[in-house]
Amino acid sequence: MQQSTIVRRVACQGIGLHSGEEVEITLSPAAPGSGIVFVALGCDHRDAGGGSGFEISACVDAIHSSSRATTLAVASGANGNEGDPVRQIATVEHLLATIFAFEIDNVRIEVSGSEIPAMDGSASPFVDWLRSAGRIAQTATRDEFSIDAPIVIRDGERSIRIDPADELRISYEIDFDHPCIGRQSFEVTGLDEKVFEEELAAARTFGFAHEVEALHRAGLALGGRIENTVVLDDEKVLNAEGLRWPDEFVRHKIVDLIGDLALLGARPKAHIQVVRGGHRLHHRMVEALMASRESPSIARNPRALAPTSTSASDR
Ligand SMILES: [Zn+2]
Repeated sequence: MQQSTIVRRVACQGIGLHSGEEVEITLSPAAPGSGIVFVALGCDHRDAGGGSGFEISACVDAIHSSSRATTLAVASGANGNEGDPVRQIATVEHLLATIFAFEIDNVRIEVSGSEIPAMDGSASPFVDWLRSAGRIAQTATRDEFSIDAPIVIRDGERSIRIDPADELRISYEIDFDHPCIGRQSFEVTGLDEKVFEEELAAARTFGFAHEVEALHRAGLALGGRIENTVVLDDEKVLNAEGLRWPDEFVRHKIVDLIGDLALLGARPKAHIQVVRGGHRLHHRMVEALMASRESPSIARNPRALAPTSTSASDR
């Protein structure tokens, strides 16, 4: 299979879910082998640090935070002056999931702030947007990789098991003690643009009303609105229009997982089974897959993978 990029430059605007800031993003075609690269422009924003902009490749090494969203960063001094604040781009997962599903390998993403806009809380707006950008095959060959033995990542009741397979297959299960969610499971095979659009893209981010105050204190969800989040109180969904699917919650978790998989820079031939996952566990998974790609013997010995703690906020 050949690598692909987009045909034309496209732009869109929206509000960052966590920062609440207005952001403009522009996608441009990129050269074979360059991958997905975020470019923060004109960084006079407080979180983005000073200077005249910076680049962050969408890759496992750039993972900076797993709390509520995937945040990528360049380390202080790595792409500018020593002592600069850490420069980051937050909430990349829904856009990355769409790029991955559209099988776009190389694209440059310019961002006017430090967060990808929330849009309606789902990946649907990005589907329409990427379609308008077109897709064109390039001369280089796309990387794919297989694993040769199962990988298991466990954290209490949360787990991810990865088995060798002929193609990417994702099975996801969640279990929330809430009358509108409960136990939900969903499976995706043959992931492409059509499957993504029809079964996953419209599923929105969700959150609980009782958590909003704590999130705001932590400087998170400042752009969260009922227009871009499914909000639940103790009994029901508060959004007047209701849910887009009864199992919208687990479908959204798969969108998040696909966005995190995009950090591999290649499509794994594997069956990924997730139980009660979240970004933190997803990130441990991509680290394990990356390690298995670089050195299969390390991934086969789970003790060689550094354990990381997971909290209740791992969503
Ligand atoms: Zn999400």
